[in-house]
This record gives sequence, structure tokens and C-alpha cells, in this order.
Amino acid sequence: MFISKVTSGFRVNNYKNNYSFQRSGMLSPLKADTFSFSGKVQDKNKESRLKEKTIYIFLGPPASGKGTQAQKLAKKLNIAHISTGDLLREEVKNETKLGLEAREYMNNGKLVPTELFGRILVDRISQEDCQNGYILDGFPRTEEQAQMIDELNSKENAKIKVIQLVVDEDKLIERMTSRAKHQSREDDTVDKLKTRIDVYNGVKDTLVNYYGEKVVTIDANADIKAVQMQIDENIQDDLA
Ligand code: AMP
Repeated sequence: MFISKVTSGFRVNNYKNNYSFQRSGMLSPLKADTFSFSGKVQDKNKESRLKEKTIYIFLGPPASGKGTQAQKLAKKLNIAHISTGDLLREEVKNETKLGLEAREYMNNGKLVPTELFGRILVDRISQEDCQNGYILDGFPRTEEQAQMIDELNSKENAKIKVIQLVVDEDKLIERMTSRAKHQSREDDTVDKLKTRIDVYNGVKDTLVNYYGEKVVTIDANADIKAVQMQIDENIQDDLA
């Protein structure tokens, strides 16, 4: 697999299973040992419950509950849950080169440039527990990232289903206020939330238009169980 940043996106080619990832403007590829893997591994003794390989993409503003719902769905379907926020937080925690660079963007509620971390996502998706399908939580966040998934998926042509969580802004602020009291995420403060909501709102329509009929919209103002039930109803046809 070879990914390179081109003027308007990424180019992905298979290359004898050797991964390389170039940052624009850099001549030499980043070394593989700069990165580490993360994410929950599915139960290997259980088969995925899906009829066909499916990539579920969760779209939603911060505090919309997409992490919680993505995790629950992954467990139900026995497929991997990949959160780019978690992957990046792991890098920050381990103080890797990537983590040190990403931290600044994350703490300001800004998007981390895809060319910085695309490589760890590609590596994660190529793991065995993603072979029957996986859930992306927090990715894509730009049209360029959506194109990257399509390119990575171009050989397999797995089905893509997008679950869009919609929540009123005052509800998001209410949730974030209570979350900030219980957690110590540096970007999980009410003042950073506004920036993160704006970043999401700036790209939401582009992504919803990009995916068109693949999008199912869920009213996520309700409690966790009620939202989960709505999601379940929308995935019934995907089950074997
Ligand atoms: P999240 O946990 O999904 O809210 O992500 C936390 C932070 O990680 C975001 O505010 C971004 O700074 C960064 N991040 C996560 N996913 C992405 C992505 N797909 N593209 C760029 N930055 C990301």
C-alpha cells in the first residue's frame, strides 16, 4: 500500500504490503516505528454478524454520543471500532513524534492534518479484526478523508453505511458541561466545544452530500438506549 499526498487528496496503491506514507513537501517517507497501533480488538472466537463486509461511518458533532454508540454497535456486530480521536490520544499519551505534533491541533479543537496521521489509520484498517468490516468514529472529517476511504476500499468495494447523529446545540453544550466535570480531556471544555462544533458544522453538509443515499439520520437528542434502538432498526437488513 502506498499513500502519497497529491494536490487534491491521497493516492493509494498496493505495493507488496509495504506501507509508506509521505507528507507533502517531504522527500523521505516517515518511519513505521514512529507510530503505534491502538483500538479495541474484536472477539476472535466469534464471527461477525454481518451479511457482507460493511464499513460503518459515524458522523456527528462532539458530544453527540457517536463514540458510545459506535462502541455498542461494534460489540453487537463483533467488528472493530476505530476512533481516530482515540488513536491520536494514544499517540499524545505516548509522546510519539506524531502525538507531539497532533496535540497542539487537538487542544485547540482543530483538525489534525490528515497527512500527519493517515498512516496509522491505514495500518489499523489492515489489521485482521477489520477483515469483516469495521466502524469508523470521527473519520472522515473532510471530503479528502472521505476520498481516502473510497480509495482504500476500491479493491474490496465493501458496503459503506453512514450513521449521522443529529443533536441540538444547547443539548451538546449541556452534555459537554457535565462531561467536563467528570473527565480530564484537554479539548473537552465548553469553550473548546464551540470551535469543535463549528469545525463539524463547516463540513457536515459536504459529507452528507458526498455519501448521499448511504446516510441514515438519527435523532440523537434522546437517551443512549433510545438512540441505540434507532440505530439497530437501521442495520437490521445488514445482519446475516
Ligand atoms: P474526537 O475524539 O473524535 O472528538 O477527536 C478529538 C480530536 O482529535 C479532534 O478535535 C481533532 O483534533 C482530532 N481528530 C480526530 N479525528 C480526526 C480526523 N478524522 N481528522 C482530523 N483530526 C481528527
